[in-house]
Amino acid sequence: MIPMPEKELESFSVPNLIPDRNWDELLISSWDSLKVRSRRFKDSNIRSVELKFYPYKNGNHSVSYRNGILNAKFHTSLMDAGEKTIFSFVHLLISKLLGLKPKQIWKEEVADFLNSIPESGPGKFKKLRENGVVYDLKIILEEISSSYFPKMDTKLLSIGWADRLGKRRLGSYEKRNMNIRISPILDHKEVPIFVLEHVVHHEILHHILPTRIKNGQNSIHSPEFKRKEKEYVRYREAINWLKTEYPKFLMKYQKEIGFRLKSEFYG
Ligand SMILES: [Zn+2]
Repeated sequence: MIPMPEKELESFSVPNLIPDRNWDELLISSWDSLKVRSRRFKDSNIRSVELKFYPYKNGNHSVSYRNGILNAKFHTSLMDAGEKTIFSFVHLLISKLLGLKPKQIWKEEVADFLNSIPESGPGKFKKLRENGVVYDLKIILEEISSSYFPKMDTKLLSIGWADRLGKRRLGSYEKRNMNIRISPILDHKEVPIFVLEHVVHHEILHHILPTRIKNGQNSIHSPEFKRKEKEYVRYREAINWLKTEYPKFLMKYQKEIGFRLKSEFYG
């Protein structure tokens, strides 16, 4: 076996990696585009940016402004986030700093991202709730495991509802803790069980299949992965529901979802 670097976290939707981002430029351009709407800061310019990344648990993100200096503290996992996430993240924090109302889409994008990073530091694994309002994830995990992965030791795997409501990131697998997290957005009577089973099946595949290296990059969803994914008997139905019904579901319950999003956000 050739040792290969593995990502700590496998997500149901995978962000693009952007190396060597110009953070200062991004923060300044976000400030400049938003400050025009701020009474207090509209004539304030950023002379320099002080940016620090911390590996601690999430919720520690902050930006502050004083005498032309913008101070920013972010979680290290933001470095690996996708373009859209980083844009939304920076705009959300800066609009709050400027006393402006952030766009709902930024909040959602950021919720999805925060949903995917582990809440606890090394050695401090937080057991997530398995039982939801509609679905019990433990039962789904056992059902899928016994039908598709009878040789797998399910005792090693844990599953639970994520703390935050992810709309695009519906599930994730964390290698370090062998833990599957499912977005609580799926804990709803209008979400069919086969959608949950499909997401759980997908995340179990991350647990059992190694991450391969292709052209120097991690190929998280390898051809083998994709082939195995289709072995779930209601795969097509699940994909079709996610494509056609899920956007309607989000529209129909946008008030309820917006309320849930608001209640879990700081500020
Ligand atoms: Zn995946």
